[in-house]
Amino acid sequence: MRTPIVAGNWKMHKTIAEAVELTRGIRRGVMDIKNVEVVLGPPFTALAAVREAIGPAKIGLAAQNMYFEEQGAFTGEISPLMLAELCQYVILGHSERRQYFGETDGGVNNKAKSALVHGLTPIICVGENLEQNQSGETETIVGGQVRAAFEGISADDASQIVVAYEPIWAIGTGLAAVPAEVNSIIGLSIRGALADLYGEGVSQSIRVQYGGSVKPDNMADFAILSEIDGALVGGASLKADSFVGIIKAASV
Ligand code: PEP
Repeated sequence: MRTPIVAGNWKMHKTIAEAVELTRGIRRGVMDIKNVEVVLGPPFTALAAVREAIGPAKIGLAAQNMYFEEQGAFTGEISPLMLAELCQYVILGHSERRQYFGETDGGVNNKAKSALVHGLTPIICVGENLEQNQSGETETIVGGQVRAAFEGISADDASQIVVAYEPIWAIGTGLAAVPAEVNSIIGLSIRGALADLYGEGVSQSIRVQYGGSVKPDNMADFAILSEIDGALVGGASLKADSFVGIIKAASV
C-alpha cells in the first residue's frame, strides 16, 4: 500500500509573512487527516520560516529546485547540503525549469543522485507537451524522461523517489487531464519504465502523483484510481482552503 502524497508547489509566490500565514491555515486544516502525506513547497526565502510554522505537525517541506554540487563558486545556486538542514524533499525537473531555465534530463538525474546522497527525497516531474500529446508521443517522452532521471540510481534509492506526472498542457490552464488516461499513462509509461529498470516490486513501491490543474472538486476523481498516489498542486496550493480541500479529497 502506497501512502498518497499531496505537495504544494508555491512557485515564485509568497513573502515570508504570507508563507507563514498560509502554513498556519494549512496546518489547522489538516490536523485530523492521517492517511495522506502533506508537503509544502515555498520559495527558498521562506523555507526556514515555514519550517518553524510547521513546528511538530506532520507536514513535510520541499524546496523547488537545487544545484547538484555541495558548495563552491556557483553564484545564486542552493546546494543539497544547505537544503538538508531545512527540508526533506526537493522538486526536480519541473516543466517550468525545463522550459525557462534549460534543465535537461541529464541535469535532473545529477540532481536526483545528489539529493539522495544528502537524504533529500526527490519529487521528479515528467510530462509531455501539447504537441507531443497530440502526435501520440506521450509514452515515449514520459518513459524516456523516467529512464533518464533514474539512470544509475540503485533500487533502494529509487523506491524513495516520488514521481510527478504533469502533462505540460494541463499545468495552470484549468484543463486537467482525463483521470483514466492519467492512470493508464502512469501504469504504462512510468511504472512500465520503472519495472524495466528495477522489476515489478520496486515499480509498484514508487509513488506517482498527478499534477495539472488539480482542484478540490476534481482530486477525488484521480485519488480513486489505482496508479495515482496524490498530487503535485500549483495554483490551488496557494490558498489554505483549496489546498486543504484537495488533501481531504485525496484521503478517500
Ligand atoms: C504545477 O506547477 O506543478 C502545477 C501542477 O500547477 P497547477 O496545479 O496550477 O496546474
